[in-house]
Amino acid sequence: MHELSLVQELIGVLEEQVRVHTVKKVLRVNLRVGKMTSVVPSSLAFCFEVLSRGTSLEGAVLDIEEIPVRCRCTTCQEEFEVESFTFFCPKCGGNNLEQLSGREFLIHHLEVD
Ligand SMILES: [Zn+2]
Repeated sequence: MHELSLVQELIGVLEEQVRVHTVKKVLRVNLRVGKMTSVVPSSLAFCFEVLSRGTSLEGAVLDIEEIPVRCRCTTCQEEFEVESFTFFCPKCGGNNLEQLSGREFLIHHLEVD
């Protein structure tokens, strides 16, 4: 499962932060996840709950913000959000696109005690 390894990595990174900053408890983790990553937020939350047990992250709330897939048409410079993964420019119909967002998997901020 894709989400399981992502969450394992995420917890590793967060625990490192907890150690470095001598945080007592992490209350909330705000994550930004691009829709292009095909991560399912509910299974991400589930994996986090299971894997964080017994760690300094236990009980932390995982806030998942989904980032839309945005592209720029290199022909006419139009910027648009890609719906249902049809990669054509809505303005000129071109398919020379540069992807601007949608592949993120970032920890945006942490709320700690
Ligand atoms: Zn265009």
